[in-house]
Amino acid sequence: LRRNPGETEFHQAVHEVLDTLGPVLAKHPQYAEAAVISRLCEPERQIIFRVPWVDDSGAVQINRGFRVEFNSALGPYKGGLRFHPSVYLGIVKFLGFEQIFKNSLTGMPIGGGKGGSDFSPKGRSDGEVMRFCQAFMTELYRHIGEYTDVPAGDIGVGGREIGYLFGQYKRITNRYESGVLTGKGITWGGSQVRTEATGYGTVFFVDEMLKTRGDSFDGKKVVVSGSGNVAIYAVEKVQQLGGTVVACSDSNGYVVDLKGIDLDVLKHVKETRRARLSAYVEARPHAEHVESGSVWDVACDIALPCATQNELNGRDAATLIGNGCAIVAEGANMPCTPDAVRLFAEAGVLFAPGKAANAGGVATSALEMQQNASRDSWSFEHTERRLADIMRGIHDRCLDAADTYGTPGNYQAGANIAGFIQVADAMLALGVI
Ligand code: NDP
Repeated sequence: LRRNPGETEFHQAVHEVLDTLGPVLAKHPQYAEAAVISRLCEPERQIIFRVPWVDDSGAVQINRGFRVEFNSALGPYKGGLRFHPSVYLGIVKFLGFEQIFKNSLTGMPIGGGKGGSDFSPKGRSDGEVMRFCQAFMTELYRHIGEYTDVPAGDIGVGGREIGYLFGQYKRITNRYESGVLTGKGITWGGSQVRTEATGYGTVFFVDEMLKTRGDSFDGKKVVVSGSGNVAIYAVEKVQQLGGTVVACSDSNGYVVDLKGIDLDVLKHVKETRRARLSAYVEARPHAEHVESGSVWDVACDIALPCATQNELNGRDAATLIGNGCAIVAEGANMPCTPDAVRLFAEAGVLFAPGKAANAGGVATSALEMQQNASRDSWSFEHTERRLADIMRGIHDRCLDAADTYGTPGNYQAGANIAGFIQVADAMLALGVI
């Protein structure tokens, strides 16, 4: 705490992991002897930089850019960039810390990192977004590379932003280094299924959880928070598997559509028009847009928080439990507060933490890197099958680790333990560096 004052979200993320590692440290004293925990909590490198750019009115704007290169024991740093006004070092470090364990859990050769800026793309013209991205990459380019650090998207950074960032990287370095960024467009080095991967992966993970109870999505009522990249493709996959998504949200409120969220309308509003979710009801007049309150007030069997950190608190958890919700899986990073997670455990609600349930995005990014390295491109069907297999593997690894270390059925402990052991063993093997 004293070492990292004011970084609330980072403290929360570290506590969440350390609280579950007791049985591992007791059984394997070599981790404590080599100070693995202290080393894991200190990023290998943190970069903070000025991002100067010119807006449409000709005024000079200054934002702050971040890249935290947290841990490279398993591979090049890998993790997204977030553009949102709330971004500061504590957010980037919480995300980077989570990313170490998530990436380890995928079983793929990727380390952990994260970055971003306090820039808000909302309400900015295309030209402004492009100039911001170019200014951001003008500093970032010297820190990243296919073998060093491979950023991707996150909140506020989608295909458009990755395009502008990649264009500037290519211009500055004079290298078509496809593997330097993931989330690229299909015609210029991107992978099929990367856009869909986080949302699809979360739903594949829940499907595995349901199978442990001999159940399926068929006929289930689902609430998804958010209406961005992760949320939209979670909605799509739930519908394909026979569930009904009855509500989704953005930062101005939520929409309830008891006939089931119309995916075409949702995509048109959010992806094509880049409008607010309230516009959804123009095309679906029977649906309701609610400006105040919480999307978690809508009754459901399965809840998928896919918006942002700490968006589902103890009160929301109590409401969900009261309404009979049986499964909660985090599509977003750390969307459930510690209070909420505790209540789910006490009520016997199956809970999947983000570092397991949303790992499909980074796993498919690693598949994109594989395709770039071999100058190959795979079909949608093949890539989606790989994603489904990876999610099944992560699911099983969580349950195995939970069993082995005395917390059977606890996905949260299982994810932390399985993720930790793999990266800690690599750190021991590489020596004190
Ligand atoms: P997007 O920017 O595409 O969408 C974010 C959504 O969350 C929007 O609907 C946004 O609403 C809402 N939101 C963001 N901030 C807030 C806030 N402070 N309060 C309420 N709502 C908010 O981002 P993604 O879908 O990519 O990311 C969503 C979550 O998933 C994040 O936690 C991210 O870290 C995590 N994640 C993303 C991955 C990816 O591949 N994209 C991979 C793994 C995890 P509004 O438009 O009104 O701001």
